[in-house]
Amino acid sequence: MAKLTSKMVKEFWKRMCGHYGTEVVDKPSAKEMKAIGGFLDAVGVLDKEAFLRTYATTLWNRIYVPFELGNAKSMPLLGQVAVCVHEHVHAGQFQDPTFPLLYITSTRERALAEARAYRTNFEMYWFLAKQKLSPKAVAHTLVDYGCTPKDITAAENFLVKASLLLGAAPYTSEARKALALLKELQ
Ligand SMILES: [Zn+2]
Repeated sequence: MAKLTSKMVKEFWKRMCGHYGTEVVDKPSAKEMKAIGGFLDAVGVLDKEAFLRTYATTLWNRIYVPFELGNAKSMPLLGQVAVCVHEHVHAGQFQDPTFPLLYITSTRERALAEARAYRTNFEMYWFLAKQKLSPKAVAHTLVDYGCTPKDITAAENFLVKASLLLGAAPYTSEARKALALLKELQ
């Protein structure tokens, strides 16, 4: 895989969004971001400050991104690619009408939904950079999502298995799509 460039990453996001019917809210008014952060905070999903500064968030087909697409100074390009794939797993999860309520009301469901999305981060880092992410470190970020230590262990266990299964090709359809797109963009 050729080195990621700013142009490639921007085009990659555009094509992923085109394929999955999503849109990036890339220059959101601070007002909209704050309103959503306030909502996630109120329902106990994510701390408002963490939402605004750290995490991308997907609500149905809208992906809220806290960094500038293609700008490696605002986030490393490999991370931007991985976030794109991760958020598209969530966009897929939102197609199940029961998902939003389960995600909000059950910390266990939330942890597992995140673990499924994080599986694609493992795949992208592995297939693009031969880096193995740490299941423990990744699962630990779920503290910010209000998950309990037991939920976090469940997510970690899921990611340990996913990590062991990193083989010749990615397991998730989103990572497969992403790698095919990146190949076209080289
Ligand atoms: Zn997520």
